[in-house]
Amino acid sequence: MSFDRELFDATLLEGLHAWPLEDLGSKVPQMGQFAELVVRANEELNLTRIVEPQEMAVKNFLDSLSILLLDWPQKLRCLDLGTGAGFPGVPLAVARENWQWVLLDSLRKKLAFLEKAAGELRLPNVTTLHARAEDAGRDTGQREQYDLVVSRAVASLPTLLELATPLVKIGGVFAAYKGGSVDHELQSAGRAIRLLQLDLERVFPLQLPGGFGERTILLFRKIGPTPSAYPRRAGIPAKRPLE
Ligand code: SAH
Repeated sequence: MSFDRELFDATLLEGLHAWPLEDLGSKVPQMGQFAELVVRANEELNLTRIVEPQEMAVKNFLDSLSILLLDWPQKLRCLDLGTGAGFPGVPLAVARENWQWVLLDSLRKKLAFLEKAAGELRLPNVTTLHARAEDAGRDTGQREQYDLVVSRAVASLPTLLELATPLVKIGGVFAAYKGGSVDHELQSAGRAIRLLQLDLERVFPLQLPGGFGERTILLFRKIGPTPSAYPRRAGIPAKRPLE
């Protein structure tokens, strides 16, 4: 499939200016290169439904970058949980060279693609981790190791909080990328928020440029250690969510 790279680059640049994240303008070529790799690999790997250039620029790239509208420290140790085709992790790794990224997924073929892409894009700040989040969260080398964990389109909020927050350092943040309406999900997550020692620090609603829809970033601060019972064994957080 041919990919209109000029249209992608122009849409991304326009969106960066609109937000405003125009300091990332110099990163557009590297992002475009990654978009092309995704579209090419998608034919075999079924990585994303989004392949049209404008939609790719807004719904995958700008959406991934949206947390940069908030203030963050210069250096962070980060993990993208259920990274799939590399969203939001790869655009963020391109945008912030001083943030170290671990891209976690349970599907090895997606990580093989991402390792190759990170090599081609010359991204020394990206590594991959092949694991279920439930297992990583109990591994002493991973548990409570990250300043920032992000995740998009992986699970409903109570499940996601159980998967993600064991990986976050005490005092660190989990950023959940969600759709426009989050009231229902937030209501269902009250128990998980309490049990997992979280504070909902910020609900950040945003509009994707070009009328591509509404999104919400939920920022959870980890205010105490995750009880040792969590995460429960693989599959249980989704089957019996902490509702
Ligand atoms: N974040 C990407 C991909 C979403 S698809 C995006 O927004 O485009 C969800 C991904 O999460 C899949 O690649 C799936 O393999 C992974 N995933 C789901 N549950 C997981 C778990 N418990 N542990 C690790 N990866 C998981």
